Amino acid sequence: MTPTHPVSIPPAPTGETQLGLTRRVRRITRALGEGYPGAHCELNFGTPLELVVAVVLSAQCTDVRVNQTTPALFARYRGAADYAGADRAELEELIRPTGFFRNKATSLIGIGAALVERFDGEVPGRQDDLVTLPGVGRKTANVVLGDAFGVPGITVDTHFGRLVRRWGWTAEEDPVKVEHAIGALLPRKDWTVLSHWVIFHGRRVCHARRPACGACLLAKDCPSFGLGPVEPGLAAPLVKGEEAEHLLALAQQTGLPRTKKPARETVREPAKATAAKKTVSTKSATSTTVVKKVAR
Ligand code: SF4
Repeated sequence: MTPTHPVSIPPAPTGETQLGLTRRVRRITRALGEGYPGAHCELNFGTPLELVVAVVLSAQCTDVRVNQTTPALFARYRGAADYAGADRAELEELIRPTGFFRNKATSLIGIGAALVERFDGEVPGRQDDLVTLPGVGRKTANVVLGDAFGVPGITVDTHFGRLVRRWGWTAEEDPVKVEHAIGALLPRKDWTVLSHWVIFHGRRVCHARRPACGACLLAKDCPSFGLGPVEPGLAAPLVKGEEAEHLLALAQQTGLPRTKKPARETVREPAKATAAKKTVSTKSATSTTVVKKVAR
């Protein structure tokens, strides 16, 4: 069943009014649309089954590596029955470059078997069914629904969660709560494309460790401006991808916030990160939520 999202917008962690937050969300989404007009799922696939397989393989692995691995895999295993009856050693060897290949092989064989046994060998187009497949969680289900079936879904991966918290759209850490909070801010029809925009921005500009704040097209609307270098000359080289030139031009047009120094930040560390800090001292931007007052 499609998840029920709250109809009212939860209070903004930035202290903005609901109207202020709604307007800022609109400005940010408009800017993201201009920045990434071709945003899409970066995994290559031709059928819903291929997308399920690619998403399973993408766990702890880059999309680039997955895309290098899947052509041979998809040529060898064409349908659910092929995965169900796969020779484990052969399958493991094919997917080895994506890491965690034993667990992933178990998932793929299990998915193939479940599809054959319960869904006539076809990938179901409902979240409730998708999440019953081995190794398929809510995130994978939302990617498949959005990109293979055209059913709007919000994909809360590591980039998505980090960015919406940096933007002060939500302070939630739990992916399901994040999904619901962001779902309340935007029309349902925009959920899938928003997921792509946010993930594109997270990969190209708003990096976990050194976000390119001084070369970011969202700088004026971002309460976390200053988390990374604010000098355009230092920030520009941090912008990655083939859209870099376009993104830098847009950022230049938009300009930076007037404040010379980034406003003071209030950094709230989730309990898990605080505990981890005792043993890991280098993680900062990836495991923190930054919330400060929005200037306008
Ligand atoms: S201003 Fe900085 S923190 Fe905000 S979205 Fe841009 S890169 Fe990320």
